[in-house]
Amino acid sequence: MEMLSARALQGEAPFYAAQGEECRLFEQAHASRLPLLIKGPTGCGKTRLVEHMAARLRRPLVTVSCHDDLSAADLVGRHLIEGGNTRWCDGPLTRAVRQGAICYLDEVVEARKDTTVVLHPLADDRRQLPIERSGELLEAAPDFMLVISYNPGYQNLLKGLKPSTRQRFVALCLDYPRPEIETQIVGTESACSAEVAARLVKLGQALRRLTEHDLEETASTRLLVMAARLHVAGLGLRAACQAAIVDALTDDADTAAALGEIVLAVI
Ligand code: ADP
Repeated sequence: MEMLSARALQGEAPFYAAQGEECRLFEQAHASRLPLLIKGPTGCGKTRLVEHMAARLRRPLVTVSCHDDLSAADLVGRHLIEGGNTRWCDGPLTRAVRQGAICYLDEVVEARKDTTVVLHPLADDRRQLPIERSGELLEAAPDFMLVISYNPGYQNLLKGLKPSTRQRFVALCLDYPRPEIETQIVGTESACSAEVAARLVKLGQALRRLTEHDLEETASTRLLVMAARLHVAGLGLRAACQAAIVDALTDDADTAAALGEIVLAVI
């Protein structure tokens, strides 16, 4: 019943099964003009939450997957030379600031350090984006919202967010959803049977107990959904788990054998 009413409310928004109060927190942060930091392991629903909320709030969404070569100019924009003339071209962050969009910077700790220079004045009360190359100081449109995510599990002492950066954001912690919710997600995202979804979720839990401390990645909700989809497409469930989960998680033969044992035990 609750699910039905939640869906009716979502309208066109992509399906998102909430783990707790995160949708309300997102809405309140948006209404309060506060930037949001979403923490959580890979594949636990961070991106889907942002997509869902952007649709619910009826805001355009600009997503940037950050990588170690991403610079402030990639976000803000640059002059392009076209037929001998130079023309300014807004980057994705500048476009979002002008349009009042939600700008989602996925895995922000990966980006080059000069990006924090542009994020700071945007993330605090000023809500301004300095465009150094043109000398412009752009005021963010009222509905603009900055959302960043990072995975605290990638322990890297050199990385992590500086306290001066993270203190500007409201923080939201996500983890893998609890079993009832994860079963609903796997079922809805793949159209597999309730029984298959429940079995995959059980496998996910068993694998997480084993791998969380040994592998950089573990069996995420995303991987469970992928296994379920392969199965719905006609692959046997064990083979689907091998391809979508075990071989996706490790290259090491011994680890793969250990994970494979768990698949045989649970599936
Ligand atoms: P992240 O951004 O945390 O790496 P995603 O949001 O991309 O993870 O989630 C990966 C996939 O898992 C999604 O495409 C979706 O199929 C599924 N998923 C995970 N959590 C949820 C959720 N709460 N509701 C709906 N689908 C989810």
